[in-house]
Amino acid sequence: MTPVIPRTLRTDFADHAYERVARSSNEQAARLAQSLVRETQGDVLFGLADRGRYASDASIYQQMPVGVLVPTQSQDVATALDICRGMGVPVVPRGGGTSQCGQTVGTGLVIDHSKHLGRILHLDVAERSVTVEPGMVLDHLNAALKPHGLWFPVDVSTSGQATLGGMAGNNSCGSRSLAYGNMVHNVLGIKAWLSDGELLDWGPMAHSQGRVQRIGHFVRDLAQQLHPEIDAHWPRVLRRVAGYNLDVFHPVSERPYTNDGSVNLAHLLVGSEGTLAMTHSLTLRLSPLPRAKVLGVVNFPTFVQAMTAAQHIVQLGAGSLCAVELVDRTMIDLAMQNPAFAPTMRSALTGAPEAILLVEFHGEDPSQLLPCIQDLKDCMSGLNLPDSVVPLLEESAQKKLWDVRKAGLNIMMSLKGDGKPVSFIEDCAVPLAHLAEYTTALTEVFHQHGTRGTWYAHASVGTLHVRPILDMRRDGPQKMRAIAEQASALVRQFKGAYSGEHGDGLCRGEWISWQFGPRISNAFAQIKAHMDPIGLLCPQRIVNPPRMDDTRLMRHNPRHSVIHIHTALDWSSWDVQTNARTGELGPPGSGGDPAMGLAKAVDMCNNNGHCRKFDAGTMCPSYRITRDEQHLTRGRANTLRLALSGQLGTDALTGEDVRAALDLCVSCKGCKRDCPTGVDMARMKIEVQHQYKRYNGHSWRDRLVAHLPDYARHAAAFSGLLNLRDRWLGLAWLSEKLLGLSAQRSLPVWQRHHFFKRSTLGVSASEVLKAVRPVVLWVDTFNGHFEPGNALAAFRVLQAAGYTVHVASKHALGHGANQGHLCCGRSYLASGMVDRAKAKAHALIQSLLPFAQQGIAIVGLEPSCLYTLRDEALAMGLGPDAHTVAEHALMWEEFLAREAHAQQLEALKARLQHTLQPISVHGHCHQKAFGGMDDLLTCIKLIPGAQPKVIESSCCGMAGAFGYEQEHHAASMQMAELSLLPAVREATDAIIVADGTSCRHQIWDGAQRPAIHVAQLLSDQLRN
Ligand SMILES: Cc1cc2nc3c(=O)[nH]c(=O)nc-3n(C[C@H](O)[C@H](O)[C@H](O)COP(=O)(O)OP(=O)(O)OC[C@H]3O[C@@H](n4cnc5c(N)ncnc54)[C@H](O)[C@@H]3O)c2cc1C
Ligand code: SF4
Ligand code: SF4
Repeated sequence: MTPVIPRTLRTDFADHAYERVARSSNEQAARLAQSLVRETQGDVLFGLADRGRYASDASIYQQMPVGVLVPTQSQDVATALDICRGMGVPVVPRGGGTSQCGQTVGTGLVIDHSKHLGRILHLDVAERSVTVEPGMVLDHLNAALKPHGLWFPVDVSTSGQATLGGMAGNNSCGSRSLAYGNMVHNVLGIKAWLSDGELLDWGPMAHSQGRVQRIGHFVRDLAQQLHPEIDAHWPRVLRRVAGYNLDVFHPVSERPYTNDGSVNLAHLLVGSEGTLAMTHSLTLRLSPLPRAKVLGVVNFPTFVQAMTAAQHIVQLGAGSLCAVELVDRTMIDLAMQNPAFAPTMRSALTGAPEAILLVEFHGEDPSQLLPCIQDLKDCMSGLNLPDSVVPLLEESAQKKLWDVRKAGLNIMMSLKGDGKPVSFIEDCAVPLAHLAEYTTALTEVFHQHGTRGTWYAHASVGTLHVRPILDMRRDGPQKMRAIAEQASALVRQFKGAYSGEHGDGLCRGEWISWQFGPRISNAFAQIKAHMDPIGLLCPQRIVNPPRMDDTRLMRHNPRHSVIHIHTALDWSSWDVQTNARTGELGPPGSGGDPAMGLAKAVDMCNNNGHCRKFDAGTMCPSYRITRDEQHLTRGRANTLRLALSGQLGTDALTGEDVRAALDLCVSCKGCKRDCPTGVDMARMKIEVQHQYKRYNGHSWRDRLVAHLPDYARHAAAFSGLLNLRDRWLGLAWLSEKLLGLSAQRSLPVWQRHHFFKRSTLGVSASEVLKAVRPVVLWVDTFNGHFEPGNALAAFRVLQAAGYTVHVASKHALGHGANQGHLCCGRSYLASGMVDRAKAKAHALIQSLLPFAQQGIAIVGLEPSCLYTLRDEALAMGLGPDAHTVAEHALMWEEFLAREAHAQQLEALKARLQHTLQPISVHGHCHQKAFGGMDDLLTCIKLIPGAQPKVIESSCCGMAGAFGYEQEHHAASMQMAELSLLPAVREATDAIIVADGTSCRHQIWDGAQRPAIHVAQLLSDQLRN
């Protein structure tokens, strides 16, 4: 994880804020925007698309804010508060926007703290406390604390995105709340503004003074009058996050809020969801990082037995038990269907359980924890379940199983069609003694409404997540209310909490009075009126909330419509209906999407915010350099959704808002791999480019790039002349002015003697079809024309390994080799020329088909080209032939790794010379996205002594033509500087391996270090 220093790449409308906003919005918005621009340093975002991107969170709701402020400093927040108060515009504070109940959705000015207000202000290691700004992300805090042996233990699942301000707003709870409590148990103090602008310190009541003390007394007096009501209505469970924490003055919770039972007035703000005060900073209690953990996986023959056992398990461990997490049969099955997770899941199972509980104990010393596992086994034997516990003692095995649990949830969330798992009763908490009865009864409720839900998560505290599948565009809202009413009756029957983890927001606000009764609800209203008398902060939340099923507040509702478009790519596999009861999908194209499936593909984004990642994975490089919602996968998906549903005006799909949102997407496919619901923005960008360019036309640069495969062989004849561009002063400048190719970039070097001139290399097509060890080498435009050495190296190694190699060329069957080189159409796709790309891909597929039909591997060298065959070519309507070829298309190293596993490479291994030189490997984005990295390493390890080290990098920033484009050069270099270039510079004596043509170019441009293709690496090690 590398928190980056953000830099705003967008330019906003400082000079003409009023006019621009007034034109597109209204006069009040214009005045507000103008004041914010004048008086704050922050980004002032008042355009329709910006507002639309902040109109939703991870809930089902949507409300357009009047505008958005992204403050750069705390003073901006104070100023904005003053301006809004003066104009009567409500304020909606926001962190990562990962709330599931609509907490950050509101019509006022949204203030996004997550971009700039994320610093540690003070760390006291001895006192184990830290003071942070509200926009700090939990994982960043914990990364900073780790060297001190400390952590902030409220380990929410969204730890990579959730901000401490948002966590306090929601009173968030982690998987290990049994051991550490919720947010409220770990907040020591809060500095916050009231809506009148006064900045106050909220902390221990005993030390409070002035205004804070007076507020404390006011709330204390209210609470004192309500002791009987609190006793009667307050849920006696750890997980209760509804309403305000009136009970600080009359504790009834399972766990006291403070160690000594004293009152801390900061706890009044925790869980208040931005309705009482705006957080300036928070002081948090830290915990020592546990040195040891053991995990016992309990296998249950029935779900009910798992639910019944939870109450007994939580008695174990003498204080060292920290988590009891449920995984049900559906999730087990989902994990077992996934080859990556199946071995891990299998290792945790005995027999075929209907549910498992992950029981974790932690402490200082692993040996002291082993008796806990024995206690767990004894406990299970006592419940007639001997031999049901699988101990996992190794940290890596434990981590893998936790990852599987998370992935199982992700697969569940990736349901296609209009029916989606909906959050609204997903975190009701009931006492453990009633867990079995509650889950059985609620499952029956789902059945009554023709739906189902998968159960998972926090069995330790009686908060099981479950999301019934509902179609919110049709009868979902009605079913939602009916199910909520029946679920609430069960919660009341079992004396639980209706809102147990994720907060109230729009979804559970109306259930506050149901939970607490009229007198306590009235007290909440009085607290709100006392602290925010003008109703400036998140009005109509917690107090006086709307109905949960008010469809006017929803993102999708029965009035939602989608524009008709004719798509260039095939999106029909998303255009399906799902049977909510069985999960069965209808046939492709049966979903009734007027956008031919594109709208439904876009709707796969449920706004969970997982793409707001900062670690050096692949998703999402443009967000990592900008930290702008606009340049985030979620922001892009929202922009497309709004455009496709006509909410950004007419023709928005081909307009500026959509273009701008996709502008910095480098098509790395990181989202396809990492997004829990598989949003593939790279493919969407192709479609959108196609629609946009069809409407707006192609530039000269588009044509130059797209048609490169066509003119390359002719251009090569003028290589000397063309290569002057990077030698003669002024020519690069000219190419920037005329074509928009960055003058700061060198261009690939044309080769007069390119690979495709070697017409005699390899055997003919008919010969390879008869060969015993056949392979087809498909050389792409880029390697063939600019780096022919790679193609030759690949050829040489394959031959040395004993394969009969045919070099693919157009319609080679029956002819000699090299009738013309074959192109996948990638460069056309990148420019949105889908029809041209189709023609290219068709020719390629037809040329390769005879080999694929014979089961012969077709190996390629350039990841973006080879994976086009396995990915986009399948969405171009090229029929079953495309699938046949895709099944046999492999990266060169994937082929060698496969053959090595089959013991077919002994001869090659014997010919490879030993090396001691360090090897650093940078994976191309598509290699990572398609899981090709392991094979790349296997291939390198064929060299005796080779110990390749993977550089933890995301996109190199080149992304085909992107990095050459003048307007993208800076962004391209920033992406490279995030992790790739520093790692390359650091590895001074290493060979750098990078399979992507653009990656090699970027490494040379940015670090002046040569990088080589893996084929070249192996070829260099070949003994003659
Ligand atoms: C897949 C998924 C898994 C989740 N898992 C968990 C989980 O394990 N445990 C859990 O508790 N929750 C979970 N959540 C819910 C959510 O992620 C958490 O509540 C998280 O802490 C919210 O953080 P955020 O930064 O996104 O806050 P936001 O959603 O942006 O805001 C949360 C609340 O805080 C308020 N707020 C934000 N900043 C300020 C400020 N400066 N001043 C005053 N108020 C402010 C907002 O107005 C809002 O009411 C999950 C959500 C998803 C989508
Ligand atoms: S794009 Fe994927 S990861 Fe990002 S918010 Fe949408 S669903 Fe979540
Ligand atoms: S393809 Fe890459 S850059 Fe584009 S949205 Fe997905 S992760 Fe981000």
